[in-house]
Amino acid sequence: MTDLERTVEFVRRKFADFYTAQSEVGPSSIGQREFGFGSWERKIETRHAAFPTKADLRKYLVMNAPFFISHSIAYYEFPTGRPMPRKNWLGGDLVFDLDADECPNHAKGWICDTCFGKTKSEAIKLIEEFLMPDFGFSSNEISVNFSGNRGFHVRVESEKVKQLDREARRDLVDYIGGTGLSIENFFRAKEKSWMENDRVKRQLQNMGPKPTDPGWGGRIARFAIDPANIAHLPKEVQKKKFPLFTQGVKEGNWDKVRIANKETVWGDLGKKVGVHMGDQIDQNVTIDTSKLIRMADSLHGDSGWVAKTFPLSQLQSFDPRKDALAFSSSETVTLNIVEAPKFLSREEEFGPFKAEKRELPLHAAMYLLCKKAALLSD
Ligand SMILES: [Zn+2]
Repeated sequence: MTDLERTVEFVRRKFADFYTAQSEVGPSSIGQREFGFGSWERKIETRHAAFPTKADLRKYLVMNAPFFISHSIAYYEFPTGRPMPRKNWLGGDLVFDLDADECPNHAKGWICDTCFGKTKSEAIKLIEEFLMPDFGFSSNEISVNFSGNRGFHVRVESEKVKQLDREARRDLVDYIGGTGLSIENFFRAKEKSWMENDRVKRQLQNMGPKPTDPGWGGRIARFAIDPANIAHLPKEVQKKKFPLFTQGVKEGNWDKVRIANKETVWGDLGKKVGVHMGDQIDQNVTIDTSKLIRMADSLHGDSGWVAKTFPLSQLQSFDPRKDALAFSSSETVTLNIVEAPKFLSREEEFGPFKAEKRELPLHAAMYLLCKKAALLSD
């Protein structure tokens, strides 16, 4: 047996132990979902599988311990049917896949507070600024889970979204991302006139959205007067004039402070207010109604972490490096580490490592093995 074969076998055995300890796993309406499974090399190697009950799925996971488990966001009459139309699509959840961007602090595939914190802010924005106020979904209809690697999945399960087709889902993605937003629609010129030295003076005033306006208009106004976003404002209002600018925007008057090229400036502001949903591949999870998504509370084969479900109220404080761990610190494993940056696991710091042999607690060892940054040592 090669070191790689021994490593894969070791990780698989640990994954099987994890599923053995779980009492129940699987999505709602499990009998109508299509499942896909991935190997050490590929995230989805087989698909078109189905399980009548959660107990059937658990039995499969304990026996096979796949490295990746995904299921359809869709509900089908015949989930094993092939080709796709034979499945008979009955509807689907609305799912958003928010993943950390590439980060200058480390090599591709790892996470740090900076990139993960940004993704978290986007998830909070999606839920609190869009799904709840604009679309009216309640906290009972929205669930969130860690993706298992570098982001979050936000899911809406509701009769209101079940029948949305691709086009409607594409429109939702565009709305939430602020794509194609015409900022000028929120501004209108209003003529102001007054008497001065017995003569009527006239001036065109730019009336814009107020913070209390619904939808996108109010969102842009609230963003503009939030001191946390001051760096995104033009230099004319960044310092002493910010209070005056804020006072004006609250009344819908965006001209209290003179700003050069204001059309361009406010247009750019709109782009910063939307939810950053990553590239086309991430957006496809929302749009493509035949997409498979990582099963919540399953293990992720690229991290050894749990794609943990947690209450919305814990999103702000969620940290996978302590909240998504599946493996203990009582067992230790000796590894030959190829290369790894400094990382946290169970609030302990490890690394950086380069071409060295190390004995690590199981939770940190599993992370490096799944990241393909190490092999078991003999
Ligand atoms: Zn980072």
